[in-house]
Amino acid sequence: MPDFFRRKPTFNRDDADQDGPVVPDGLWVKCHKCKDLVYSKDFERWYRVCPKCDHHARLTATQRIDYLLDSGSFEEWDRGIVTADPLSFDANGDVYKEKVQKTARKADQPESLITGRGRIRGYDAVVSATEFAFLGASMGSAFGEKFVRAVERAIELRLPFISISSSGGARMHESTFSLMQMAKTTAALSRLGEHKLPHFSILTDPCYGGVTASYATVADIIMAEPGAMIGFAGPRVIEQITRQKLPQGFQTAEFLLEHGMIDMVCRRSELPATLSLLLLHYADATMGRHQPEYAYAGTPGEEGDS
Ligand SMILES: [Zn+2]
Repeated sequence: MPDFFRRKPTFNRDDADQDGPVVPDGLWVKCHKCKDLVYSKDFERWYRVCPKCDHHARLTATQRIDYLLDSGSFEEWDRGIVTADPLSFDANGDVYKEKVQKTARKADQPESLITGRGRIRGYDAVVSATEFAFLGASMGSAFGEKFVRAVERAIELRLPFISISSSGGARMHESTFSLMQMAKTTAALSRLGEHKLPHFSILTDPCYGGVTASYATVADIIMAEPGAMIGFAGPRVIEQITRQKLPQGFQTAEFLLEHGMIDMVCRRSELPATLSLLLLHYADATMGRHQPEYAYAGTPGEEGDS
């Protein structure tokens, strides 16, 4: 007898292997971690965090900026800076220039880093955010140049610098040119420090390689989202080389906090309040005011001297 009551699946179970949530018929999203279904409007309202298991799904650079900054306050800089393909990279038909054009169309971004100026609960700051959909947010020469220009403008404008990072590391298609960006970005932050301007770094899942090993971990305060995987080489590579079993939770934000590598684990929904509080303390310090002994209610412009 035919099974008339058998339901047709509305999504493909195999998609669970990808990090991004799957949207069956646009109404529901399936959490990558707990595999439960969440109403998509709720999922968006909760900053793409699963209400059932607290998994923080990946965001695009634009979503990051939309979630973090005050509405309409972002002014993007240097969008025209794109890679010059310094090595004319072509590895058996894997043409870098073509790859960049293709990925730029797919990610709807000309590079893997967005920079600009915006406000967080009324406080001005210079912000950089990586785009993971663009070649794994790898750091090449255009990425490094945009980052350094943003830091230099932060110095010029005397504004704090906030970087939001998620990356696979250096961009191998640019070889040494990409590795040079590690020194270049770190040197720029060193100049920022000399001008007594703070750098707040937010590490998000996944953050690896040259980005973790350079500017992203050279900050006054290093924050990470819950459960974010952060490291230099991936855990599988380390296990293969050392032939040792890695401890439970290795390279998670919580593990790094416990071992003193980062300063705090901050939920996505609490990031704007946390950053605005840091920006408030910075503003107070530069104006020579004493740190106020009150709980900050998050209302911009009301911090006063009293
Ligand atoms: Zn979940």
